[in-house]
Amino acid sequence: MSYILKDLPYAYSALEPYIDEQTMRIHHDKHHQGYVNNLNAIVEKHPSFFEGKEIEEVLKNIDTLPEDIRSIVKNNGGGHANHTLFWEGLSEEKQAVEGEVIDAIIKTFTSFEAFKEAFAKAATTRFGSGWAWLVLQGDTLEIVSTANQDSPLSDGKIPLLALDVWEHAYYLKYQNLRGDYITAFWNIVNWQEVNRRYLQYKK
Ligand code: MN
Repeated sequence: MSYILKDLPYAYSALEPYIDEQTMRIHHDKHHQGYVNNLNAIVEKHPSFFEGKEIEEVLKNIDTLPEDIRSIVKNNGGGHANHTLFWEGLSEEKQAVEGEVIDAIIKTFTSFEAFKEAFAKAATTRFGSGWAWLVLQGDTLEIVSTANQDSPLSDGKIPLLALDVWEHAYYLKYQNLRGDYITAFWNIVNWQEVNRRYLQYKK
């Protein structure tokens, strides 16, 4: 068996001007494909650990993998799962900020603006490469950030919304201005998908 990189659910240029076409092409076709290829190389050598398992299930149980392949699966399996979530969480059309997940966000963080500020802070202060997340732990919403390609699934949390803050995600357009990229992100969040995940996974 092997894991497959799906096409983007929109054109490479669909997120312009917030994320540029060239970044999307390199990010999806080179970076994400690279994670999938590296993951499949491990799957080929150790098929029994992966047979019939979605990558999300593997990441949830990362501690059960033999130590000598755990890091490479964490990095590349995480890279595959994280990017899949990221693409699905973006929308080419500006979406209404509504749905049960928005009600829950306002209840948890006191206001939508306060949520955005806290999320942006998690994304800005992640040192080096990593991700900012809105996650569910049980039925509680939390903002977390992870280093490298670490997945919240490995910490027992369900990711609802992902923001990639590796430089490869924004450097061509924004250079060192990670904050501007984070501000732009709010224009392309797929709230329908975030809400769908929330309804699927909340207890
Ligand atoms: Mn990335």
